[in-house]
Amino acid sequence: MINKELLGILCCPLCKSDLELVEENKILICSKCNEKYEVVNDIPIMLPGEYEKKKNSIASK
Ligand SMILES: [Zn+2]
Repeated sequence: MINKELLGILCCPLCKSDLELVEENKILICSKCNEKYEVVNDIPIMLPGEYEKKKNSIASK
């Protein structure tokens, strides 16, 4: 899992707010704008829209 130190450094690239880790879904959620960031192999993918895009592509199959 992501260590707390790293989590403390990370912030939302869109609004610079703190991120909240949702361990069961392995995603980070911005506390302000609710943007979601996927965590792959313990590395957060800090690209806005990537999580939704991936989710949608799975749903459309
Ligand atoms: Zn944000």
